[in-house]
Amino acid sequence: MKIMSINCGSSSLKFKLFEMPEEKVLAEGIFERIGMEMGDYKISQFGSKKDYTEVALPDHSVAVELLLNELLKRGIVNSLEEIKGVGHRVVQGGKYFTESALVDEWSKGKVRELIDLAPLHNKAHLIGVEAFEKHLPGVKQIFVFDTSFHNRGMKEEAFMYAVPWRWYTEYGIRKYGAHGTSHEYLSKECARLMGKDVKDVNIITCHIGNGASLAAIEGGVCKDTSMGLTPLEGVPMGTRTGNIDPTVVSYIAEKEGKDAKTVVNELNKKSGYLGLSEYSSDARDLEEKEEQGDERAKLVFNVQAKRVVDYIASYWMYLGGKVDAIVFSAGIGENSPQFRERICARLFPIGVKIDKEVNNQRGKAFKFSTADSKIECWCIPTDEEVVIARDTVRLTQK
Ligand code: AMP
Repeated sequence: MKIMSINCGSSSLKFKLFEMPEEKVLAEGIFERIGMEMGDYKISQFGSKKDYTEVALPDHSVAVELLLNELLKRGIVNSLEEIKGVGHRVVQGGKYFTESALVDEWSKGKVRELIDLAPLHNKAHLIGVEAFEKHLPGVKQIFVFDTSFHNRGMKEEAFMYAVPWRWYTEYGIRKYGAHGTSHEYLSKECARLMGKDVKDVNIITCHIGNGASLAAIEGGVCKDTSMGLTPLEGVPMGTRTGNIDPTVVSYIAEKEGKDAKTVVNELNKKSGYLGLSEYSSDARDLEEKEEQGDERAKLVFNVQAKRVVDYIASYWMYLGGKVDAIVFSAGIGENSPQFRERICARLFPIGVKIDKEVNNQRGKAFKFSTADSKIECWCIPTDEEVVIARDTVRLTQK
């Protein structure tokens, strides 16, 4: 059965076509600069190189039409009827969704209602759904929420902010988290690699890419996570601050004659690695600088490392001091031995010991803690798309 996994952004559409239940990727690619004067797309078929085409992509519907035509033209599918389901990543599911859901009028209405909390993302997801409704009529579609893994597990004490209660009841102000699909995948995959049932292990997952979040997972249930109402909360990231004193917003607004929205935009887009380094939001650029002896680049990484370790330490406490594994994933977590070493070196008080030689690998799953480490340390590439495909199979077969 062929299943499509889709991640729609405001000007992009990423896809992976799976043969299920084998979980074999038949094709994958990305359409970018949708809605701009000139767009482009890259598609790679199983076993072949990615090829690149420049073409105008006025809207998502044109991109979906092109994608389906390419699948037919390349013989990846012989007929569109072979595609039995389409799963969409959705950034914000709010309080409504603790599980993935079939796309219907009710669920679309809720995703629409949540646009205020994730303006660019949720709007784009709905546009993606409508494009597939038009070009694959009758094919079941599924919403897979970034928030539902967290929403299913966190207790009130973990997700409530200490703000006026009315803000919560009237506006839904609370922690929702993000990257839930990745954290869920990583915890299950880590348990599998450890040869254990996920119900029997406690795991702290660190999804550290351009966006970064951590989660405390007890027996497969998420107890806490670092992102909040929006992805701005938590640890410093490529361009986001992570936690700061909210007074900074009114202070800078007053000093620079800006409104709160503009300042918050700078906290999202001009801060983190980029803001502190005044050089780049990309970890590779900063690692290169650090190797050349650049003190600022070193400081940037140390600021982030301190905060990441603050979270790991607090999650260790929250999980009762019983943590079986720490998982590192996403662009930086998977690919940067320096990042993992910097974090793990600060975790020696809770008994973490790593093998630096083993750690010096990237982009694949491996354990790099020593045999006498009290907590296992794993590097595991994340795979949100396969979770979307699995949920799509499960819900379309119901
Ligand atoms: P993501 O958002 O998960 O795609 O992660 C993007 C981040 O991963 C960027 O900061 C990249 O610099 C970083 N990254 C990717 N490859 C490497 C690498 N080999 N070493 C260090 N950082 C990397």
